[in-house]
Amino acid sequence: MKPSSLANKKVLVMGLGHFGGGVGVSRFLAEHGAKVTITDTSDSQTLTSSIKHLEDLEIEYHLGEHTKEDFIHSDLIVVNPAVPKHSPWLKLAEKNHIPQTTEMNLFFDYCPAPIIGVTGSNGKSTTTAMISEILRATTDKTIWTGGNIGQTNLLQQIDKISEKDWAVLELSSFQLYDLGLSQHSPQIAILTNITENHIDWHGDMDAYVDAKKNILRYQHVNDHAIFNHDDPEFNDWPILTNAQTHWYSIKDTKDIQLAIPGNHNKSNAAAALQVANILKLSRSKSIKALENFHGLPHRLELIRHLDGVTYYNDSISTTPQSTIAAIESFDKKKVLILGGYDKQIDFSPLIESIAQPKNQVETVILIGQVKESLLKQLQASMITSSVAIQTSDTLEQAIELAQQHATDNSVVLLSPACASYDMFKNFQDRGDQFRHFVNLLT
Ligand code: ADP
Repeated sequence: MKPSSLANKKVLVMGLGHFGGGVGVSRFLAEHGAKVTITDTSDSQTLTSSIKHLEDLEIEYHLGEHTKEDFIHSDLIVVNPAVPKHSPWLKLAEKNHIPQTTEMNLFFDYCPAPIIGVTGSNGKSTTTAMISEILRATTDKTIWTGGNIGQTNLLQQIDKISEKDWAVLELSSFQLYDLGLSQHSPQIAILTNITENHIDWHGDMDAYVDAKKNILRYQHVNDHAIFNHDDPEFNDWPILTNAQTHWYSIKDTKDIQLAIPGNHNKSNAAAALQVANILKLSRSKSIKALENFHGLPHRLELIRHLDGVTYYNDSISTTPQSTIAAIESFDKKKVLILGGYDKQIDFSPLIESIAQPKNQVETVILIGQVKESLLKQLQASMITSSVAIQTSDTLEQAIELAQQHATDNSVVLLSPACASYDMFKNFQDRGDQFRHFVNLLT
């Protein structure tokens, strides 16, 4: 399908967002000749900065409320991922047979290049970046990296993408849920691991897992599906795909010395190497690309050495499993800064990990909305006899407390295991503030 098919179509964009979530897709639609109307329940004042980015385009705005008319008389509705799936407005559109799509679905509709898609509960961004590094180092193709990673809006670049290129996408469970609507799956699908996450949005674990499975459901026989052999969850997943299946394991990376810490990153590297293998790319060049990869910001990012203590920013960690992976990445004593927005997930595996003497967690400093409930859970688990627990109302104070508690040759680790929305704009803001305050320490 070509974007020219959008010309003169009446397209409703539902949800502009004041952080600009709907800006890129609105620009794409208007620039390809669609008659765009944007509707949002926020008013024009709240949305000022997003609207400013679209000033040069002919777009109609229906703000402050939604109107029935828009959901009955449009040719297509592009739904912002933040809109609740059970919105009565979307039901109304469905009743009137108006097709619905999303920015990512449009990208799959129009992308001429083959797509490599990465999903899983953890390791998506790192694996996506590693695959991109390998492809850049071993081929002369143009590689387009995007999806949930970074700020890149690949849909806006669509006219520059050729069928000879590769697109490498990080795909979230939300995006995969929506991809089910247009029945797209990538040509190469990679699954890193499955643990509990985003239950507040999906409703339950089954619904979350089911959304992830969309990465396989619409693959063709010449496509490829790559599974992590070390996660038994995937044992019966190959049945879902028509593609050729492949398995990777952390054991495949014994001969590789990564610049970034943690066994989990070896696992991510093994996934990326399996892509190289399928595409018959040079193994030695691929390994070199992986060894030269210095990681992404906010993922076990080394910030500073001060007075024998090393500070790491792992603000990206929004699940107990990623914090467990972070804890296990360092064979050193630790002060752990933990907590944030309450996604109602089960912290017991993390509490068990904190309690294990081999993990050397000496102090835990709790922040954010979950701090009281986590404190109760930690107290109930009896680990308070071996691990010091502190609470703090601000990140700055938490860092000062961490400095006071850190003993020689230990690590201060911000790895919150929770989303950031209770105290910060997003995880980048949380990590940037951590970096800022750590750099102010004397
Ligand atoms: P995602 O994009 O899925 O959130 P990232 O690559 O951004 O994953 O990594 C986020 C955090 O998750 C890392 O800092 C690390 O603590 C943890 N992590 C990364 N890869 C894995 C993995 N394969 N298994 C478990 N945890 C991981």
